[in-house]
Amino acid sequence: MSSATPEPGQRPDPEDGAHTVAAYWTLRACELLGTLIFATALPWQQPFTWFALVAGYSTWRWWYVTRPAFKARPPASRRLIYRVSIWMMMFLVGSAWYFLYTPGDQVMLVVLAIYLMGSAALVALRVAGDFTRTVVAVCLVVLPTSLRFFIDGFQADLVLMLLGVGGLLMTVSMVQMSRAQERTLLQQYDLRQRAERAATAVAAVGLAKSRFFAAVSHDLRQPVHAIGLYLDPLIKLAQRAHDEPAQHAAEGIRQSWRALDDLLAQVLDLTRMDSGVVKAELQSTEIAPLVRDLVMQHSAAAERAGVRIVALVQPGRFAVADALMLKRVLSNLLDNAIKFSPPGRPVVVSLRSWRDDWRLQVRDAGPGIAAEAQEKIFEEFVQLDNEARDRRQGLGLGLAISRRFAGLMGGSLSVRSASGQGCCMTVLLPKVQPRRSAGDTPDPLDQQGLDGAAARAPASAMVWPPVLTTPGAEGATAPPLPAQDVLLLEDDPLVARAMGQLLQSWGQRVHPVQTAAQALEQAGLCTLAICDVRLPHGASGLDVALQLRAQGKKVLLLSGETDATLREAARTHQLLLLTKPVSSAQMLAALKSL
Ligand code: ADP
Repeated sequence: MSSATPEPGQRPDPEDGAHTVAAYWTLRACELLGTLIFATALPWQQPFTWFALVAGYSTWRWWYVTRPAFKARPPASRRLIYRVSIWMMMFLVGSAWYFLYTPGDQVMLVVLAIYLMGSAALVALRVAGDFTRTVVAVCLVVLPTSLRFFIDGFQADLVLMLLGVGGLLMTVSMVQMSRAQERTLLQQYDLRQRAERAATAVAAVGLAKSRFFAAVSHDLRQPVHAIGLYLDPLIKLAQRAHDEPAQHAAEGIRQSWRALDDLLAQVLDLTRMDSGVVKAELQSTEIAPLVRDLVMQHSAAAERAGVRIVALVQPGRFAVADALMLKRVLSNLLDNAIKFSPPGRPVVVSLRSWRDDWRLQVRDAGPGIAAEAQEKIFEEFVQLDNEARDRRQGLGLGLAISRRFAGLMGGSLSVRSASGQGCCMTVLLPKVQPRRSAGDTPDPLDQQGLDGAAARAPASAMVWPPVLTTPGAEGATAPPLPAQDVLLLEDDPLVARAMGQLLQSWGQRVHPVQTAAQALEQAGLCTLAICDVRLPHGASGLDVALQLRAQGKKVLLLSGETDATLREAARTHQLLLLTKPVSSAQMLAALKSL
């Protein structure tokens, strides 16, 4: 028997669930009823003494096991107390063989037998999962009276003797039932534990996966970053030398670099989101300025496609969002809308109130999406119109990532469209503080359609490009940086060389170092420091950057990780952080801003 008994740690919690208030009062009511019935056939003190013993003890037991102090005990100790206390209680119930026994009154004796067997059945059913506890309890309730029936009946009364035999047989069958019940329960418990272990293992794999991707992310970004830095000088050289084949080759490398950079960033984003590493930094975010920036960013692409972007977003509308994530989502939606919009038709970005949410919509008058494909476009690597898998047309990851971002922000991303009738992408985001107390913002599109809305856009709306456009405000011929000494803390030789050359081409005097200690030693030589975040021997570029800044240096942080914690730390310390890969233009802009 003991070989089948699991270890204490492998057993389910011993709690038998018999301690609800309802169960307590029901049992006491039954006992009182029994007492009153037996009081008609016996001197009243006898059944009432029995009732006082049983009810008193079970009340104490109920009070004891429902106390928080008892629940805080280790399972083994709780199991022991449960066992002993239920045995004690069943012993008192079973003392009916003495207190409730009515010699010569067969009706009352049958009532007694039924009552005791009912009690035993209740114990066997409710105290499932602990064979020892159940068997001893059942025996304590039934056996004394059964034996008394048997012995008394043996001498004179056949009915009484049969009652005794019935009680004994019932005890045996209850023991078997309890054994079967315990086995089933332990099997279920074992299955549940295995499922829990499997879930923990899956979570561990997820964590390992996220660590792996974090490492891959960092290590892949380094060479991609270096290539990006080498590119601009290479292209300039080819241009200066008027070497056309070299220019073509360099341009080809630049395009491949962008494609690689895109693919890397998007695949890593997806895997990091799936493994739960990416968390939204939710805060009150005003939507209008964010949309304005995005419209500006997409202006050049819109102009090339002959499309006008109309933003119908009033200021003072705040959503609970992660500004960076929301930008990524909208940027992707705008990319698609511009790509699919026919020339001359507008792309409209609008904001409407919808109960407790904002509906941020991007609409275009493109070919639209057939109903059956509308869910598919949110799957990874799905592109409806690019069977040749031409990478220049995108990767088919944008919407998959955008939907996850929207979900992380507590919102959603959905599509409304029909073949040939344009497309409306809706980002639903929780509101922070709607300015108007009630009523939805009217949607000009519903009444006027895309062109109508664009034409009648209110003065507050932003239309880009304006009628007379001035494209590409950012000058390609930026003024060179003032010459200065730059400390370059970078442990990857490839990246260090590329950065060094680039900085020198901008007239900077570069002092490359590889470790935190070297950086602090040579800090006196420089006025500006560029620090990689992940350094050899577990050192952090962030700490070095803070020390250098305390010495009065200007500091730029570079990181191959897209970790929210790092972003947060950089923001808290007001440090400028660039995430690799960084193009030379981004680098120049960052250095100028310093
Ligand atoms: P990508 O744009 O990189 O191909 P997305 O995930 O952003 O990837 O889009 C997936 C597919 O959804 C697109 O290839 C296109 O077929 C379809 N799609 C997305 N936006 C639109 C739109 N505005 N109009 C028509 N089709 C769209």
